[in-house]
Amino acid sequence: MEYRLVTQFNFNNKKYQLLIDRKNKLFFLEVNPDNSFSYITDKELIMLHNLFRRVPHVMYFAKDKKSTPKILRIIPKVIAGGVLVPLTLVVLLNACNQFHSVYLDNYYEKHGSVQEEIQIDRDLSFEVVDSSEPLTIDTIIESEWLGYLNIYDMQYLDKALDYQSVTIDQINDRITNNPKISERFKALLKEYVQMVHQKYPNAELRVLYENLATLEVVECTKNELLLASLSTDSAGCYIRTENKIYVLEEYEYKKGTWEYQVIMHEFGHALRTGYWQKNDKQIRVQSQGSNFNITTTEEALNSLFTVSLFDYEEKDIAYQLQSNYYSIIVECLDNYTLEDYVNHSTSYFIKAIDEQLGYTNYASVIAQLIETQRNDFLSDRMEISQDQYRPIYEVICELFFTKYITPDMSYEEAKICTNILVERILYDVPVEYNIETSYFYDLLNEYCLEIGIAKELSK
Ligand SMILES: [Zn+2]
Repeated sequence: MEYRLVTQFNFNNKKYQLLIDRKNKLFFLEVNPDNSFSYITDKELIMLHNLFRRVPHVMYFAKDKKSTPKILRIIPKVIAGGVLVPLTLVVLLNACNQFHSVYLDNYYEKHGSVQEEIQIDRDLSFEVVDSSEPLTIDTIIESEWLGYLNIYDMQYLDKALDYQSVTIDQINDRITNNPKISERFKALLKEYVQMVHQKYPNAELRVLYENLATLEVVECTKNELLLASLSTDSAGCYIRTENKIYVLEEYEYKKGTWEYQVIMHEFGHALRTGYWQKNDKQIRVQSQGSNFNITTTEEALNSLFTVSLFDYEEKDIAYQLQSNYYSIIVECLDNYTLEDYVNHSTSYFIKAIDEQLGYTNYASVIAQLIETQRNDFLSDRMEISQDQYRPIYEVICELFFTKYITPDMSYEEAKICTNILVERILYDVPVEYNIETSYFYDLLNEYCLEIGIAKELSK
């Protein structure tokens, strides 16, 4: 197994290292005071999984600029009942299935507190190797036996549908004839379809068409929405297994308002995600696959896709910081547009970043780090020092500088570019994120040196 280092963080007065494997699954090690590593106990595993999963998910990383990603070769183990055991499926399932603190409480009742003395194994032999295997792009997973078909890439939609395409008129007819959508949301949906079709003529519309047969738009009160979304700051939600969109009844959903973005964002989920039954088979269409499963990235891409449809500029956007990052990243990619968000998987996007920057498999670590930063912001139990986030800024600067800063510029001009970049990243971002903006200017100085822009000459 290969592991890449994501980040180190403090939790409950202990320091941990977060690692991810090639399929972006999380593993943890304890960091000892002498910076060596120990395996964690199964209780810690449960707590850390709980912490990292509760709010979307998480990750992290420390990497030297432009060097190849480092990987640890270790056999995942945890200390269960005082004995070091390989991290088997059973232990992992045990940890993953039990996210709720109710379980943790029961666990401690049964097994006593964390106080018990455990001989911790410090004899870990690491082999640090470079990543050599590129991220696999999620396309399709099929099991005849278990009766499901998961589609991550719309190219494979023909496996689930017996028609090749759908017209706008057909879609509009379905909207008109759907009894579970009120007139005002029918109008908004038709507007949405029109915008998608105009802006992204090759975006796949068949999943939305399938969803429209049964889609329900539930206009609800704040309390009902809270129950549906299980989130206090939710403005709307789409529950894909039910094919229902929940939005607040009290708004007008006028173009240009925040609520308008909310409903269009939820339509975006119905465009990109589908669950339906065909013969004896459960069809699931989604952009997150087995090789990449990060909520924040997906939500930010959906938000960017949504506002890109508008005929006015919308900078206030859901998942603000993450959307700010990804807005810059997508803008600087030559091999990816937001149409690809509809047609391909999240791992396709992550790989596009790797390809543009010449990495083998590094962008997934950055995406995990972006996710971690959000969890760090949302959690008051987790502590991560600001410099741990530098790899995010390095990748963004590399993309942005390469695109916008040319050797014929003066240092002052290059600095203005960087000001714009920093401003875009910070746009409407809560101060609690404490973004280390000075680091962008360190990176600028490095870049100027690299391409021959002299600092002194540009008075
Ligand atoms: Zn969403």
